[in-house]
Amino acid sequence: MKAKQILLCSFVFCFSLSCNSYKHGLSSENQITSEVQLGSVNNNVCKSLYGRVVLYVIFVDTKGTKPWSEYDITSSLDSIKKAMQWIKKKASENNKYLDIEIHYPENNHKIPIANDLPRKTLSETLFLPNFSAGLKAIQSWSDRIAVAAARTLPPDTSKIITTRNSLSDKERLIARLRDIYKTDNVALMYFVNNYYSDDLSVTFNIFSRTSIEYSIVSFKKPAIIAHEFLHLFGAWDLYITLGEKDKEAKERKVFAMKEFPNEIMAFSYRGIDSLDISPFTKYCIGWDKQLSQKYTDMILGKDIKPVKY
Ligand SMILES: [Zn+2]
Repeated sequence: MKAKQILLCSFVFCFSLSCNSYKHGLSSENQITSEVQLGSVNNNVCKSLYGRVVLYVIFVDTKGTKPWSEYDITSSLDSIKKAMQWIKKKASENNKYLDIEIHYPENNHKIPIANDLPRKTLSETLFLPNFSAGLKAIQSWSDRIAVAAARTLPPDTSKIITTRNSLSDKERLIARLRDIYKTDNVALMYFVNNYYSDDLSVTFNIFSRTSIEYSIVSFKKPAIIAHEFLHLFGAWDLYITLGEKDKEAKERKVFAMKEFPNEIMAFSYRGIDSLDISPFTKYCIGWDKQLSQKYTDMILGKDIKPVKY
C-alpha cells in the first residue's frame, strides 16, 4: 500500500501550485490585497485557453532516459492528441471555442533533440545538491534545447529586428513560433522518455512575468499531459503536494478533493475519460469569469478575494 501511494504521488508531483500564487497576492508588508488574480490568465505565453493555441512539443534524448524510438514518439503523440481532444471537448461543453495545433521540431526526419540533463533523472537534477541550484540547471538545460529547436524552424523573414539583448533562448523560440503560427498562445512542453516509474512531471514559471512558462513531462498518460497543459493556462494543483506543510492549506485541499471527486488537477493518475474540470479550475483557466463564494471561502480561506476577470 505504501509503495503504491508513493508511486501515485510521484506520478502527479509538480511544482506549479502555489504558495507562489498566495505570495502573488501579498504586498511587501505581507498584507493581503483585496483582490487576487489566482490563475495566470492573460499572463506569460499561455494567455488564455480559447481561440487558437499551439502546443509545441520537444522530444528530448538525455543520458538517463530511454532513447526515443519511432514507436515511443508515435505512441506519445497519440497520448498528446488524446489529451488535447479531451480538453477541446471540455471547452466545447463550456461554450468555448478552442483549437489546439500540435507541432514539434523535426530536422531531416530526426525528431528527438539530444541534450543530457546534468544528472541522471529530472528529480535528481532538480533537487541535488539543492532546489535552487537544480532549478538553475533545469532552466539552462531547457534553454539549450530551445536553441536547437529554433534551428529547425524556417529562416526568420520578419522585418522587425529586436534590439533587446536580454531575451532568453526560450523567449526567442516562443517569439519565432508566435510569428510562424500567428497566435499568442504557445504552450511549450518538453518530453523525456522515462525509464523510471518514480520521476516527475513539472511545470515552471506560470506566475512569472519575466521567465517563459513551460512543462517537462516524463509520462505518456493523457491525463498527466492534460494536467500539465492546464497548469500552463493557470490551473492549480488540487491534491496535497509533497512537501506541503501548512495544515490549513492541506485541509482546504482535502475539501477540494471531496467536492470535486473527478477533478483532473487532483486525480491525474486516473484514466482521462473518468475525469472532469471543476468550477475552481474553470475559474483559474479563465473559462468562468467568477468564482463562487463557496469555493472562495473553502479552498482559499476567508482572506483572499479572487478577482473577477
Ligand atoms: Zn500539477
